[in-house]
Amino acid sequence: MAVQALYALQNGFMGFEKSGLFFGERSGERVRIPIACYLVRTSDTTILFDTGLSPRAVPGLLRTDSLATFTEADLLVNRLDSVGIEPENVDVVVLSHLHFDHAGGAFLFSKSELVAQQDEYAYASYPAGFFSGFYYKKNFDLPGYRWRLLDGDTEIVPGVTVLRSDGHTPGHQSLLIELPQTGPVILAGDCCYWQESIDKEIPPGVVWDPTRAMHSIKRLKTVARLMNGRIFPSHDPVFWASALKAPDAYH
Ligand SMILES: [Zn+2]
Repeated sequence: MAVQALYALQNGFMGFEKSGLFFGERSGERVRIPIACYLVRTSDTTILFDTGLSPRAVPGLLRTDSLATFTEADLLVNRLDSVGIEPENVDVVVLSHLHFDHAGGAFLFSKSELVAQQDEYAYASYPAGFFSGFYYKKNFDLPGYRWRLLDGDTEIVPGVTVLRSDGHTPGHQSLLIELPQTGPVILAGDCCYWQESIDKEIPPGVVWDPTRAMHSIKRLKTVARLMNGRIFPSHDPVFWASALKAPDAYH
């Protein structure tokens, strides 16, 4: 039961206001940000972290967002295929949270165990008005699918651990992966949008509770420091440009 590889899967790009990325930012500037999913392989388990956009959402996004790009290769099924994986080969899907750019592909995994925090699932089902544009019930209201709803930190398999990192949303979670050569990597999800969010401890501009969001950034930094690990931010174009992308992998 050993962790073997971590693949970064590109799921297109979209435009986003800087004011949505950084709490307190007032600039109306829009920037192009990557949408990413990650696949973790252990000796006996295949785990996906986040599922990107729903393919149903892509045409509308391309029509209304001049910064959005999305190629055939960016489809999650094609990214998985590039590393020899079909959706039915994925044992566990860990969803950082249920926003549309993270939970949009969950429907592809009818055979997998879908893992979210219980508080996230409950809130996403009945979000506050200010957040309702980020949650689409169709993405996670999936009758007959196998959900595992967590309440806090949880070891998924040895070397792969969910870390609760709420604040961006009420039940946000990150994923710690203990890789044999690279060392520990924390997939932050939207706890940390950019490297700047980590360095300056700036909560997301899109946020449920900025104080908890800041505490979660500090917590991930502490775990990374104590374990001598790295944090991968979710939507950082500079980080993404230099990240190893599938079919290459971190080992
Ligand atoms: Zn989000």
